[in-house]
Amino acid sequence: RSSSINKVSRFDVMLLGDSGVGKTSLLMRIMDEKSIELKKTSNTTGPEQVIKTIVLPDAYIRLNICDTPGPERFIHLLRTYYKNCQGAILVYDIQNRKSFERVQDWVFTLREEISSEFVIALAGNKMDMENNRHVSKEEAIQFATAHNCLFLETSAKSNENVSYTFKALVLALHNQQ
Ligand code: GDP
Ligand code: MG
Repeated sequence: RSSSINKVSRFDVMLLGDSGVGKTSLLMRIMDEKSIELKKTSNTTGPEQVIKTIVLPDAYIRLNICDTPGPERFIHLLRTYYKNCQGAILVYDIQNRKSFERVQDWVFTLREEISSEFVIALAGNKMDMENNRHVSKEEAIQFATAHNCLFLETSAKSNENVSYTFKALVLALHNQQ
């Protein structure tokens, strides 16, 4: 079957969100799958990149995923990276309202600075921590719908919805072409 696929696309995406929300943990989860190549490691001061191949019915997608360090002092470095991206996964922690406000700021920044078409998936991570939830699903859905973002709650701990989030982002990028 796969020999009939002749279209290969490459997309560059970023993981953004407050420090501690689970960006690196989400990436580790999808790195477990064997199509992951580690492109760059052990750089604690800059974004780290991995490449994941995702096979769609009519295309191979080379997804270059850039993880980002939390501290705000890297914001200038981030800008040079995200200028070359077509999409982003904006991660917040459902236990942390401030982290949810941060991803909302990112939506406005990215759409303004890069493109109004910029593909964004919101990931409400740590959905396993339901007993300490501070951001309702309804509120997140409302924001995502109003701003044309994909939205999923995820858990890097239980692995729920993790690969699905990346696939949803890739499908949106592919369909936009
Ligand atoms: P980053 O700073 O956004 O890269 O966050 P990390 O991936 O380093 O995760 C920060 C902390 O949150 C770590 O202690 C992780 O083990 C924990 N963590 C990440 N994802 C989850 C999750 O889905 N559920 C729970 N309960 N903890 C998580
Ligand atoms: Mg990290």
